[in-house]
Amino acid sequence: MSQVLVVEDEAAIAELIALNLRHAGYEVTVAATAEQAQAAIDGVLPDLVLLDWMLPGQSGLALARRWRAESRTRELPIIMLTARAAESDKISGLDAGADDYLTKPFSTNELMARIRAVLRRKAPEALDAAVQVGKLRLDPATRRVAGGDVELKLGPTEFRLLEFLMSRPGVVFSREQLLDAVWGHDRAVTDRTVDVYVLRLRQKVERDPASPILIRSVRGFGYSFDAGNGAATALERQVTSTV
Ligand code: CA
Repeated sequence: MSQVLVVEDEAAIAELIALNLRHAGYEVTVAATAEQAQAAIDGVLPDLVLLDWMLPGQSGLALARRWRAESRTRELPIIMLTARAAESDKISGLDAGADDYLTKPFSTNELMARIRAVLRRKAPEALDAAVQVGKLRLDPATRRVAGGDVELKLGPTEFRLLEFLMSRPGVVFSREQLLDAVWGHDRAVTDRTVDVYVLRLRQKVERDPASPILIRSVRGFGYSFDAGNGAATALERQVTSTV
């Protein structure tokens, strides 16, 4: 289920948006001030933020700039909400790092369509659509991973890690970024934890875990999922070893 943080100081509007989002299957947190929003972000990173421009104290625009400047929140999908409609305001919003911009009043349908569009672009795994790379298929709705016709048994953390990497093929992530994305704020984990889980995943999805071609190590930095090599999975290894 996708998590959306709604940052809006007008309680009636916040409640209406939250109601509509929950009805559409999103998990919603509401923050009425920049401080509350920052506290929510410091806790758990949502899949998307609906950010009102005009807030008491620090503005939504300043918040968006701050989040874009920090590595942990740099990729956070943000849709700015505002009563301002002037083109210069729209440009300031987008310059501050918003992924999209919606002028009040807006229809629920338009809001939902914009949310889906931003998630599709920036957080495809949040949409619960199955990801297929070659014979390797991961279905967030059923929490199943298969290599061809063979189901691969993954633990919950292994699943989240594979889901995150497979949804962003070709992008290189540092261990720190993977910790934030997959483990959230569980600070009992260390960089080494990422290596351990990558090793386990390779045992399950790579044809030859000793020479991984799907989850690749990027020396001195982190890991990347190579979609170009999706045809090779644990399936072939299992089949050839049982025939
Ligand atoms: Ca406001």
